[in-house]
Amino acid sequence: MKILEIFQNIIFPHRCPGCLKIIKNKTDFCKNCINQIKIYNNLFCPRCKNRILNINKICHPKEKFILGTATDYNKITEQAIHFLKFQFVTSVANSLSNILVNYFEQILKYYQINIKNFIVIPIPISKKRFNLRGFNQSELIAKNFCDHFNLKLYNKNLIKIKNNKPQSELKDINQRQINVLNCFQIQNPKEIINKNIILIDDIITTGSTIKEAVKILKLNKVKKIIALAVCKA
Ligand SMILES: [Zn+2]
Ligand SMILES: [Zn+2]
Repeated sequence: MKILEIFQNIIFPHRCPGCLKIIKNKTDFCKNCINQIKIYNNLFCPRCKNRILNINKICHPKEKFILGTATDYNKITEQAIHFLKFQFVTSVANSLSNILVNYFEQILKYYQINIKNFIVIPIPISKKRFNLRGFNQSELIAKNFCDHFNLKLYNKNLIKIKNNKPQSELKDINQRQINVLNCFQIQNPKEIINKNIILIDDIITTGSTIKEAVKILKLNKVKKIIALAVCKA
């Protein structure tokens, strides 16, 4: 360990993003928190929440996408997302992304998905919020995911053109739908036409944001969409 690193560790010791205990491992949760993060192994229909067995046979085809969430929103993941979004601790993105990677490794065992035929798009945030926060948390999560699976990250094509209220400030599903209505735009349709997409977000609640992104991607003639979130509230 370099001397500078030793001093940094004394002044800013690395904390587990789930419980804030000081730990040595820089990119992960402590063992106790890891044991409390239950990782799923299913993909779901976004309409009825039924498990999908085959990605080519969805029970509600009108939904136009398949949903996957890695784990639940519990005290640990809530703490970690809060740590990332509001205290700007960007290393937490890798810890959260590792949950998503573990989950998707499971999915690839159970489902026939040729991952090489997919490109990855993170759910964007508005320019205003990006400038305030300095990063897009979903993009950081997607980047680590892409590094692991050796996939291409397309982080400039889907952009957010409306600086709406955070969805977390709205309780009602109708309000949330209106809040995100037409908030996205595609910059370069040629880049995504006929492509299969993995959409990545940090957290999914009512799914209004994801559905709005799916809407514009489908208008631009993408093929399959699998929307993934680290956790579902
Ligand atoms: Zn912990
Ligand atoms: Zn269904």
